[in-house]
Amino acid sequence: MDGREQLRQYLEQRKEAGERELVLDQLDVNELLKLVGAATPAAAAPRDPKPRASAAPPSSDWREVLRSSGASPEKAAERPEALSPAAPAAPAAPVAPPGISVGVSDRQLFGGPMASLETLDAVARAVASCTQCPLYSTATNPVPGQGNPNAALMIVGEAPGATEDEQGLAFVGAAGQLLTKILGAVDLKRDDVFICNVLKHRPPGNRNPMPDEVTACSPYLVRQFELIRPRAILALGTFAAQTLLQTKLSIGKLRSQVHRYHGVPLIVTYHPAALLRNPAWKRPTWEDVQLVRRILDSAIAQS
Ligand code: URA
Repeated sequence: MDGREQLRQYLEQRKEAGERELVLDQLDVNELLKLVGAATPAAAAPRDPKPRASAAPPSSDWREVLRSSGASPEKAAERPEALSPAAPAAPAAPVAPPGISVGVSDRQLFGGPMASLETLDAVARAVASCTQCPLYSTATNPVPGQGNPNAALMIVGEAPGATEDEQGLAFVGAAGQLLTKILGAVDLKRDDVFICNVLKHRPPGNRNPMPDEVTACSPYLVRQFELIRPRAILALGTFAAQTLLQTKLSIGKLRSQVHRYHGVPLIVTYHPAALLRNPAWKRPTWEDVQLVRRILDSAIAQS
């Protein structure tokens, strides 16, 4: 399938989903459809009856078609962005294609006991008395997650570390401090967002979560998602991304796409703890949070 056709299908899908703008470039879908329609071989024929034999064949990559159509990310860079003064200049970001879609939108995901947890505080109390997996017995405190109950952005990490376990709060250690700075770079405060983890109790010695623990703990995360109904989700690191998207794909493959979690856009980026070990990942992380910022701006503009 040629790049134009791929792009057309992508735009039609976005339109069907009720979107008016592409999340990265804030482009008007109808305008872009017109633009692409005008650029199809049939429409171009009257204007260019003798195409040069050396003309490049149509690209098979719709992103390339989009860029060469003039709908370039540079347009996005011209717009004023709410960035911290210390933030680096916005990179020319490619349009993010759709990724994995998990679940359907607008449905209560869990019935039974979870449905009776009507507030985030009720979820936190249920987490505090949870014995569904053994982690409660080795943890100092439950770490249900904290933040704005009406947050437009829900941020999901892996599991509490030592500092989080001591304080009963998510992302308050070194990785959490870096997360605060990353959010600040796109004009978000911790109080604006809801921050939590897949696991609500610390695995001893920060070992990797076990599948049974994830199964036992996931209903709390899903209920938090249901109650908050965020406009976007940011998954921090491989574990959170793979758990939410039910995939084994690597973080490198999952980044730079707009996935859907029960209809809500989900962006994957590196875990701040990984950034502390590998500063080279700061630039891609910066691009990811800019994508999140644009999704939020677009969602807010439409509401
Ligand atoms: N790492 C996580 O994934 N979550 C925290 O809360 C802290 C560190």
